Amino acid sequence: MIPQEGVIKFRAEHTRRELAARRVGETACRLIAWREIMALTGLVGRDPRRYEGAAYGNVSARLGPPSAGLGRRSFLITGTQTSDKRCLGLDDFAVVERFDFARNRVRSYGPAEPSSESMTHGAIYDLGPHIRCVLHAHSPILWRRARHLRLPTTAEQVPYGTPEMAYEVQRLYRETVLPERPILAMGGHEDGIVVFGRTTEETGQVLLKWLARAYELECAAGDVNLCSL
Ligand SMILES: [Zn+2]
Repeated sequence: MIPQEGVIKFRAEHTRRELAARRVGETACRLIAWREIMALTGLVGRDPRRYEGAAYGNVSARLGPPSAGLGRRSFLITGTQTSDKRCLGLDDFAVVERFDFARNRVRSYGPAEPSSESMTHGAIYDLGPHIRCVLHAHSPILWRRARHLRLPTTAEQVPYGTPEMAYEVQRLYRETVLPERPILAMGGHEDGIVVFGRTTEETGQVLLKWLARAYELECAAGDVNLCSL
């Protein structure tokens, strides 16, 4: 597996400009709160021993009306390579306005360039107007236990951040993701987990619930014993 975490693979049309707190501040704070929990549980961050030292994990939430058309469901997302920052502010976000898988193109604005996994987030928002939050975590334990937990998993040969991943996520959603388990593992993207939901809170809780289940399995496999992983 080639670790290429953090490399932007789509054509980015990015305009650098400030984000107005009165417009996106509330959404940013909700994301920052859950991203903080994810940092504390090791689901986002940077580790010199993992993924060649690239920062990992990103979070986003929809902006604007649910009725927006496909490829135009704008969302606020953390900037590329911001996952190891201790304190996150509005300057670490971008707004993705448009995304086009066929042309591998993402149009955005904001103080930071959008996460390299923006295309995958866009693909998930296109699945339904009710989806308002996507969290992308990196969890070795949850990823390792994905099969055991029967989590839908993207095909191994599909690399992250590509249009192929966008199509693969949509295929998986239609074929296997159940409404009561809005979570999937990325087979070809080491430790990659994606959860999504109607609100940031609901989505964050789904992530923590499945993380706990993975720890439960690990504990049971260790003969009711779980040392710090
Ligand atoms: Zn990732």
